[in-house]
Amino acid sequence: MAAVLRFCAASLLLLLLCVGCRADSEVGPRGTAALSTPDGAAEELSVSELLERANRNLVRSVDEPALVEGDVAVDGEAGRNADPCTARGCMWGKWSDGKVYVPYYITNHFSSREKAIITRGLESFSSFSCIRFRPTKSSDRDWLSIESQNGCYSYVGRRGGKQVVSLARRGCLYHGTVQHELLHALGFNHEQTRNDRDRHIKVLLQNVQSGMEHNFRKIATLNQGTSYDYNSVMQYHKYAFSKNNQPTMLPIPNSNVSFGNAKEMSRADIARLNTLYKSSQKQVEPNQPKQKFPSMCSEPPR
Ligand SMILES: [Zn+2]
Repeated sequence: MAAVLRFCAASLLLLLLCVGCRADSEVGPRGTAALSTPDGAAEELSVSELLERANRNLVRSVDEPALVEGDVAVDGEAGRNADPCTARGCMWGKWSDGKVYVPYYITNHFSSREKAIITRGLESFSSFSCIRFRPTKSSDRDWLSIESQNGCYSYVGRRGGKQVVSLARRGCLYHGTVQHELLHALGFNHEQTRNDRDRHIKVLLQNVQSGMEHNFRKIATLNQGTSYDYNSVMQYHKYAFSKNNQPTMLPIPNSNVSFGNAKEMSRADIARLNTLYKSSQKQVEPNQPKQKFPSMCSEPPR
């Protein structure tokens, strides 16, 4: 009898646990549930989720740049409605050896471990493009100042003079988020702002937090002939800026296709970068790892 009772109690416990699991897995979408996880679970999150988590509820002071689309720094109202790269040009210059040198300075408020994450992100570009981030020299006119400011953010493209790329020590120091902010600084915007996005993404403004609708604006972005890429490190996740745990974006035509889950730059991100900066890529097999994705830093015509 005791054995039967023990069996019943164990079954009941299992049943309760199971109900608990189901309830857990059904509480909200991954995008919102995961965003409240402690820092230790960060490797589970996509770049887009990490950025949203780091920049959530930031109170910005008057001397900081305004942010649009979560992490794009702009100066004044004019900057809100145009992509500066298509409005005025924003590329970093190519040198006579065919490489594009982008000077940077990392401020000294990072630990050596944090500096190593940033450096790995900077150096990753030289493995698949002609971009060479290098420490600033006194003769540099335009340069990136990599700082731990209020959140993760960057301006889009080269602005002239010193420009801040903020990688806050709390929340921004991951390989993919470093790549994401550097892509902004090199001239790229978010995938969902592409002018052709309505053919690939349906934006559900009814699920967007009030006041956040501008994050889903469309602008004339530098697509460089690449097709829309759900796996771009610049694509926000399905529940970005959601007010009700419902998706704010759905892929077209198949709403079940996953997107916005990138943890580092995709092949299309690399192709777009190389097209903009005119590095010709060697032909590679489709299944070749992208780390072995050499680009030819050809000399520009004299
Ligand atoms: Zn961004």
